[in-house]
Amino acid sequence: MAARTLPTLDYDVVIVGGGPAGLCAGLYCARAKLSTVILEKGVPGGQIVNTELVEDYPGFESILGPELASKMESHARKFGAELQQDQAVEIWSEDGGKYVLAEEAIYRAKAVIVTAGGTPNKLGVPGEERLNARGVSYCAVCDGPFFNGQVLAVVGGGDAAVEEGHYLTRYATRLHLIHRRDRLRAQKILQERLLSTSNVEVLWNTVVEEIGGESRVDHLQMRNVVTGERSRLDVGGIFVFVGFRPNSDLFREPIARDAQGYIITNERMETTIEGIYAAGDVRTQLARQVTTAVGDATTAALAAEKYIEALKERHGPAAQMAAAGVHSGAR
Ligand code: NAP
Repeated sequence: MAARTLPTLDYDVVIVGGGPAGLCAGLYCARAKLSTVILEKGVPGGQIVNTELVEDYPGFESILGPELASKMESHARKFGAELQQDQAVEIWSEDGGKYVLAEEAIYRAKAVIVTAGGTPNKLGVPGEERLNARGVSYCAVCDGPFFNGQVLAVVGGGDAAVEEGHYLTRYATRLHLIHRRDRLRAQKILQERLLSTSNVEVLWNTVVEEIGGESRVDHLQMRNVVTGERSRLDVGGIFVFVGFRPNSDLFREPIARDAQGYIITNERMETTIEGIYAAGDVRTQLARQVTTAVGDATTAALAAEKYIEALKERHGPAAQMAAAGVHSGAR
C-alpha cells in the first residue's frame, strides 16, 4: 500500500496537548494575533475532564471538571485559536523552523509549546477503569474533600503516595496505606509525618487485586505477597499513586529532562531546543495543579511571542536589506 502523503500546515505557534496548559497557551497566543493551533488527541481539557469537581481554581468556588474544560476551550477558540483533533508523534527543529509530525498532518511553526501532560500509572486491576471517578482517584488535592468522613485507601510507597496520603488524613476517618513491599521509598521526613498521624495504618507487603462496588467503590480485594493470604477491606475510596509518566518522548533531538523524564525549562519555559517551550505537567516542577499549568502556559506563550517578534526583526525586510548592503534613503 502506498504511503499517505500528509499535508504541511503553517502556523506561528503549534501547541501540543489540549489540557489546561495548552488551552491557556492557545488563548494567549491567539490574543497576541499569532496564528495558533492546539493539537489534542482526545477531548480538550486533559486530566480535569476526569475530575469530578474542581474547587481550587480561583474564581470558581466549585465547578465540574468537564465544565471548566469546556469553558477553557471556548475561551481559547473565542480569540481565534484553532483546535485540531490530532495526535503528535514527533517534534523537531530544522533550518530554523519547528515541525510537529502528527497522524493527520505535518505542522510547521515558528515556535512550539509542549503541554502534553503526563499519565498517572494505573494499577491495572479489575474494577479500576469501571470505577474511575466513582471512588477511584489519582489526585488527593482534587478529590479528597469529596471523601470527607470515609475510610480511604492509598496505594504506593513513594513521595506522592505518602504526601498525598497525609493530605487525605484530614478527610479520612481511617487511612490505609497499601504498599507492596515492607519499606517505603518516600523521603524519611514525609514517612515520619504520615506514620505519626493517628488515623493511619500501613498494610505492608500487600497488593490490591480487585476494586469492588456496584456504582461506586465500596471494597478492595487484597493479597499479602509474603503469606499469600487474601483479605477484603471496606473503603469509600482508593487513591492510586504508583508513579506518573510525563509524555515527553516526542523529540527527535536530545532535550534536557530530569531523571523521571520531566522536561527541564528555565523560568521563561524555554527548553534546551531554541523556540520550543514546555508548560504544565510535562515540565519538571514542584506542583502539578491546574493553577500552575496555566501559569506556566502564560509565561510560555508570552516568551514564544517575544521569540517570534525577534525572529521577524532578524529576518524581516529591513534586516535582509541591511545584510545585502542596501540602505534606505530615510535618515
Ligand atoms: P515513585 O517514586 O516512582 O513511587 C511509586 C511507588 O509506587 C513505589 O513505592 C512503587 O513501589 C509503587 N508501585 C509502582 N508500581 C506499582 C504497582 N503496580 N502496584 C503497587 N505499587 C506500585 O512515584 P511518585 O511517588 O509518583 O513520585 C514520582 C517522582 O515525583 C519522584 O521522584 C518523587 O520524588 C517526586 N515527588 C516528590 C514529591 C515531594 O518531594 N514532595 C511529591 C510527589 C512526588 P516500590 O517502592 O516497591 O517500587
